[in-house]
Amino acid sequence: MLTYLYDNISEVLKNLRTTKEGLSDIEVADRTRKYGPNILKGGKKASLIFSFLKQFTDLLIIILLSAAIFSAIIGSYKDSIVILLIVFINALIGFIQEHRAEKTIEALNSHLPQTVTVIRDGNKKKIDSTELVPGDIVYLSEGDKVSADIRLIQTNELYTNDSTITGESEPQEKKALGRENRNLELGDILGSLFAGTQIISGNGIGVVVATGMSSQLGKIAQETTKVNVQKSPLQKETDHIAKIVAKSFVFVMFGLLLAYYLINRYFNLSEGLLFAVQIAAAIVPEGLPATISVALAIGARRMAKRKSAIKKLSTVETLGEINVIVTDKTGTLTKNEMTVKDIYFDGEMYSVTGSGYGSSGEILHNELPLGITEKRILNKFFNTGVYANNSDINYEKPNGPEYIGDPTEVSILVAAEKFGINTFKVREKAIVTEEIPFTSERKFMAKVIKEKGEETVYFKGATDPIISMCKKIYKNGHELDITPKDIHNIKNITDNLSSRALRVIACAYKKKDNKKIEGDLVFLGLYGIIDPPRAEVKETIKIAKKAGIRTIMVTGDHGLTASAIAQRVGLSENPKVINGEKLNQLNDHGLIELLHDEDIIFARVDPMHKLRIVKALQKMHNIVAVTGDGVNDSPALKSSDVGIAMGISGTDVSRESSDMVLLNDSYSSIVWAVKEGRIVYENIEKFTKFEFTTHVAALSSVVAGIVLGIMPLFAIQILLMDYGAETFSAFALGVDTEEDDVMARKPRNRKIPLFNINSIYYVLRSGIGLSIISVSVFLIFMYSNGWQIGVKPDLNLLFTGTAITYTVFALGQILNSFSLRSTTKPVYKLFFGNMKLIYAAIASIVFVFLVVYIPGLNNFAKMAPIPAIMWPMIIIASIVYLVYLEVIKFGLSRAKRIS
Ligand code: ADP
Ligand code: MG
Repeated sequence: MLTYLYDNISEVLKNLRTTKEGLSDIEVADRTRKYGPNILKGGKKASLIFSFLKQFTDLLIIILLSAAIFSAIIGSYKDSIVILLIVFINALIGFIQEHRAEKTIEALNSHLPQTVTVIRDGNKKKIDSTELVPGDIVYLSEGDKVSADIRLIQTNELYTNDSTITGESEPQEKKALGRENRNLELGDILGSLFAGTQIISGNGIGVVVATGMSSQLGKIAQETTKVNVQKSPLQKETDHIAKIVAKSFVFVMFGLLLAYYLINRYFNLSEGLLFAVQIAAAIVPEGLPATISVALAIGARRMAKRKSAIKKLSTVETLGEINVIVTDKTGTLTKNEMTVKDIYFDGEMYSVTGSGYGSSGEILHNELPLGITEKRILNKFFNTGVYANNSDINYEKPNGPEYIGDPTEVSILVAAEKFGINTFKVREKAIVTEEIPFTSERKFMAKVIKEKGEETVYFKGATDPIISMCKKIYKNGHELDITPKDIHNIKNITDNLSSRALRVIACAYKKKDNKKIEGDLVFLGLYGIIDPPRAEVKETIKIAKKAGIRTIMVTGDHGLTASAIAQRVGLSENPKVINGEKLNQLNDHGLIELLHDEDIIFARVDPMHKLRIVKALQKMHNIVAVTGDGVNDSPALKSSDVGIAMGISGTDVSRESSDMVLLNDSYSSIVWAVKEGRIVYENIEKFTKFEFTTHVAALSSVVAGIVLGIMPLFAIQILLMDYGAETFSAFALGVDTEEDDVMARKPRNRKIPLFNINSIYYVLRSGIGLSIISVSVFLIFMYSNGWQIGVKPDLNLLFTGTAITYTVFALGQILNSFSLRSTTKPVYKLFFGNMKLIYAAIASIVFVFLVVYIPGLNNFAKMAPIPAIMWPMIIIASIVYLVYLEVIKFGLSRAKRIS
């Protein structure tokens, strides 16, 4: 395969049995069978068993395990079996959840499409990069990721970033070369492109010489493929909390032991130790990390349904904190369905009918179709738009034509078709000898075309850069010197069109002399192109505003166009436009001053300005999301808190630097993703509150037991609560649906931790409340059955008593799981929003009945059947608990409303 990198290009094409017209469909099918899809097979992944075992390394699990071992040593085998079983189940659940979370992310990533433009059967086509086969002729341009090894046939200012292959990140110029020296290192082979590298500017055509694992990247990939699992801030915080809890474990244990000794008159050291170890193990919050990754993964999946694909789980969390969205205009706020509406040429305005890309429509002058003379004089203008153009219309498609390329350029082709030019034929005869590619910094492009032995340069771009290169103007069939009045006039018309929300493209041409391509142009005319706002954007901008999220438009387009669109989508009634030139004069301090103004939008900027804006906003302590599509947007995407790339119009390079990809390019998807991020956070909050309520309740019941000299709950029951009755509801809460309107609030402050004062209060009052209620029922039962303080109870009676505590506890928490769904709404409105919670409640109740009533099982759990007569009281007690929670909720939410 390597010889293809060195041989003469014509030999290469011959050896690959292909031509510049590309392969035939039959040949492609044949080669796909032979070479397989163009994918890199993943490297070795950590084995399943290993990642299962990893669950046991968790500090908390180790504590549980040592409790089991300790129980066994002092002869309490039953306890140690139960603990071991619990540890095993917990590890299994943790493992399944994490595995699922990883799978979700993998699935999301594999759906990110990467397309390439190829020539097959003589036609330009867009295909998925996995469908490439050796021999395919491909087009590459700025921002593309190279997806196979390619030998270049033709290039234009082509520069690549080869760091993935050579480690060298300086731009590398690539050229179509003849035979190359066989002894060259990969980094010195200039006539070929390698899979995994990126085109950072220019464009070119080449032939695929190696795909998939046969490519140079494939050879490297065999060793290096590895999934990068980063922890989110939340995960870090809970890990931290878990560590604190684990560290205080020893103290808690000795405290318990001491208390037990002081109170218990029949103290027996090993019994006391067993008690302390088990209780301490039981109050360790082990479910937290697994639930957080599940909640994040579910959030990611919901986002994908709303067309945002995130690349790592922590992004879900950051999204919930976003308070500024810096967004592009074209394609994000607008549809990117460009249509030429107005034309200015030789002192006259023309209008174009029809909408979208459909070629039905015509050119009108003063509301009338064009006459023959008009047709003749406009020909030059339209031809320029066709030549200085890289887009294509493929009419060979069975279900209507396919439009390939930048929508701005496509619209210009469509206008030419409406005018009556067969754009395909015109370009078929033209030979492109040189090209200046379009970049966001340059804001124009040019092509040198050779026709009948003569070379002409055709230009199109923003009015300012074009006009500043013009020496002449085309009038009445003559090239006249351009006057200040002409320039003034052209700028006026540009402003006029722009303030009607049209995108303006100017065109010019010149006969090629031997000097450089730029300069000495002849001005031709202007296109006014409409790009209507996306229908849903106005509404979502409103939602974002209400949610405390500011949206700032940053565009390369004309200020007046930007301002008109900003008004139409409701960004601002009175936008203040800052253009790139103004930005250049400002220092960072000045920029920050400016950004305090809510009506600011940015126009005529380039990607480096975007980076500055993002950094300034971050300096102002904002959490910033930014959109980008070009290669040069990468720095801004990377330095923002959430970098968002475009799934449709974005370059591969921008997608690689991003945290999230908008599959439909729409601004609205960002807002929906933010919403999902907020919901996820709330769910984690609910879950945490729920989980810790159980632990506080358990611990305070044990403390009460020590004081009373009788245990209302055994350690094993606390474990059975945590791992049995309550797991279901806890997980269901972790993936709850939205109940409170999360977009009616300001963004969460990153500095307030998950375990803040409010949540700690919540956990204390609900945990202690639950403990008081369930221990009371326990005591009532024990007293009414003859037990008295200071007397060692009958074991069977105690088993029934603890079964009662356990049941009140479990039922109370089931009710709490519904109450927790909202911090404002009353519980009766919250029962049916999340069916999972109902199933969980049923599962918990079944679980409680099993461990209380099944003979043998209950003995194992140190419980005995509850007499029927106790049930009304148990139910009333749990309802009392619910009322207690609800009254406090009502009080707090009213206090908040009033303040
Ligand atoms: P944005 O994507 O933010 O609207 P761009 O950087 O793509 O801005 O475009 C900036 C300006 O460059 C546009 O206002 C337009 O005048 C010009 N322009 C855009 N696309 C092309 C193109 N394909 N060829 C020539 N000029 C273009
Ligand atoms: Mg653009």
